[in-house]
Amino acid sequence: MAGKVYIVGAGPGAADLLTLRAAALLRAATIVLHDDLVPMEILELCPASAQIVNVGKRCGRHSRSQEQINALMVWHARETDAQTIVRLKSGDPAVFGRLGEELDALRRAGVEFEIVPGVTAASAAAASAKITLTDRRVASALVVVTAHNSRNEPLSKTMFGPARPTYAVYMPGPDYAGTVKGLVESGHEPATPCAVVSYAGRADEEVRYLTLADLASVKGIPAPALLIVGEVAAEHPLQRPQDLLSEISSEPYHYDRLPIHPSLG
Ligand code: SAH
Repeated sequence: MAGKVYIVGAGPGAADLLTLRAAALLRAATIVLHDDLVPMEILELCPASAQIVNVGKRCGRHSRSQEQINALMVWHARETDAQTIVRLKSGDPAVFGRLGEELDALRRAGVEFEIVPGVTAASAAAASAKITLTDRRVASALVVVTAHNSRNEPLSKTMFGPARPTYAVYMPGPDYAGTVKGLVESGHEPATPCAVVSYAGRADEEVRYLTLADLASVKGIPAPALLIVGEVAAEHPLQRPQDLLSEISSEPYHYDRLPIHPSLG
């Protein structure tokens, strides 16, 4: 039986800002692949028998390329015994965590995975600074942006040029037609992909992948819901099983050649 990869957010670094779901997974982990920013007090939750590997970018000569990290996850998941593989990332794993490349690799390899969100640095920093990022008297939007992107472009280009921001729209309903009208009038194409997520993170969560045009006429979306607008919300084409099969044979990495204990590699 193949292992499952849990991509887990470690939060901003204090163990008591970890989610209960993250803590439970760390206690059950057999393999933990973590980034540099994850502190020891969080790693101490793992059982003594767990194999803990720092795959961080800043760990000197042992640093691994993104391709090697992807290959390690897939290789561990394909070991014959069922494994609980935790890919532990600081903050929220889906915010500037290079998660896109890792998800592509897991999908291509047909490896089952689950994402456990975490407290992102922006939330933690606002709490530390005793401010609210969206004080309704002075702000109606929160843009999450990086000063470093994969194309090494300057910040001004990232913000206004090819970055094409994702919009996370809080309180999008119940008048979805009105919300869509506002988005289209401010320049979004009706064909723009979006995802509306009700009860996110709960057992009864519901995810709908749509376009803005479709969203305007959808009825019965349960609240609370969050609307994500932008190219990132397109349902991933690699999720189709026929794509998974054709992609596996073209994988460039040889998982069976990796060392059993990655820190020896
Ligand atoms: N996935 C992470 C971000 C990874 S990028 C998240 O959701 O928070 C790494 C950057 O996050 C750091 O360079 C820093 O800008 C920020 N960061 C992470 N942890 C932080 C902390 N505890 N305090 C302040 N900034 C932090």
